[in-house]
Amino acid sequence: MQTTFTAEQLKDPATARSNEILRTCVHCGFCTATCPTYQVLGDELDSPRGRIYLIKDMLENGRPADWPA
Ligand code: SF4
Repeated sequence: MQTTFTAEQLKDPATARSNEILRTCVHCGFCTATCPTYQVLGDELDSPRGRIYLIKDMLENGRPADWPA
């Protein structure tokens, strides 16, 4: 997965490690077959890949998670 952390953000070891982990997702989609929430809801945002996007956005932009309306 492409990330857009700044050089300043990557100076933080925890952020640098998060960046490494986020970049290991290759968008293969294999996780949907075994993800319970995806099986029930049928929405990719409720799959591991969707949660990875959520965490990436939180870390890159320094903001809390969105909550359903
Ligand atoms: S999180 Fe899902 S889409 Fe990303 S690499 Fe793992 S199995 Fe593939």
